[in-house]
Amino acid sequence: EGASDKGERWCIYQVDENQLVQQKLKLAADLRRALMNNELSLYYQPQIELKNNAIYGCEVLLRWQHPEIGFVPPDDFIPIAESAGLINDVTEWVIEQALIQHKNLLELYPDHKTSINISAQDLIKKDLPVQVISLLTELNIDPTTIIIELTESASISDSLAANQVLDDFKKMGVKIAIDDYGTGYSSLAYLSQLRFNEIKIDKQFVMELEHSKRDQTICKTTIEMAKSLGALVVAEGVENENVAKILRQYGCEIAQGYHFGKPMPFSDYYQWLQRYQATG
Ligand code: C2E
Ligand code: MG
Ligand code: MG
Ligand code: MG
Repeated sequence: EGASDKGERWCIYQVDENQLVQQKLKLAADLRRALMNNELSLYYQPQIELKNNAIYGCEVLLRWQHPEIGFVPPDDFIPIAESAGLINDVTEWVIEQALIQHKNLLELYPDHKTSINISAQDLIKKDLPVQVISLLTELNIDPTTIIIELTESASISDSLAANQVLDDFKKMGVKIAIDDYGTGYSSLAYLSQLRFNEIKIDKQFVMELEHSKRDQTICKTTIEMAKSLGALVVAEGVENENVAKILRQYGCEIAQGYHFGKPMPFSDYYQWLQRYQATG
């Protein structure tokens, strides 16, 4: 009986694994279609300068409304896009849409910065900076108002090609942010290799800041280090005024989180920006 029990469990495990693979394959196929069918959209989350509560800009966040299963979170479908070889097309779409909308935002708020996430795999594409600069030229956008967010990953700091792409962005004046700082496995090596303008402290160190002495130490020293390296610090996951206050005391320049605004569709963000400008 014991043996058959074991066999059965083994069987169930196989089925689950298989289902997972099938599910991922289906999602990859669906994503390929989603790109053409208007199922993807961009949401915009405000970023605020802590010293005076002025608008800094926004981060652009991708959303997928799947026709059958509904909303799929980016943390689920970005890895699928990466392994299915679709991420470059996704990124291209994101960048183009984001830059067109950024142009509209600049008319409302001339200092507005737009941050766009890209994947490590996009840095293997040597022509990405050329594509970005031609869009920026076409739209007559100042490159220094655009920030490319990059999550720490081993493949980047080791790769000459990736460094070349980052260098090209830098020469164009486009800024680079290190995203989710502190969650990668080799953060300091990464910081030492790459040229960047901003460090984004991951929300896992920010969300409980009020209650965690350890997180306070981590945030404080990261902010000091970033300043010494000449980088701006953005804290993500700021959910209340207390946390904003602590970060302000530490000298953190920019905050992003539900306390200031959740990610929202473009038209909502545009209105949010108008209201925020009018009422502060
Ligand atoms: P990220 O770049 O670190 O983005 C910040 C995430 O934190 C977003 O999740 C945002 O909604 C969430 N967040 C912001 N403030 C708060 C807060 O106060 N509380 C809480 N609980 N969460 C907050 P989201 O939109 O689900 O995106 C998840 C990740 O997916 C992003 O993390 C990024 O790594 C990736 N992603 C999103 N859009 C894109 C894209 O266009 N391209 C690529 N390559 N990756 C993307
Ligand atoms: Mg990001
Ligand atoms: Mg982040
Ligand atoms: Mg994050």
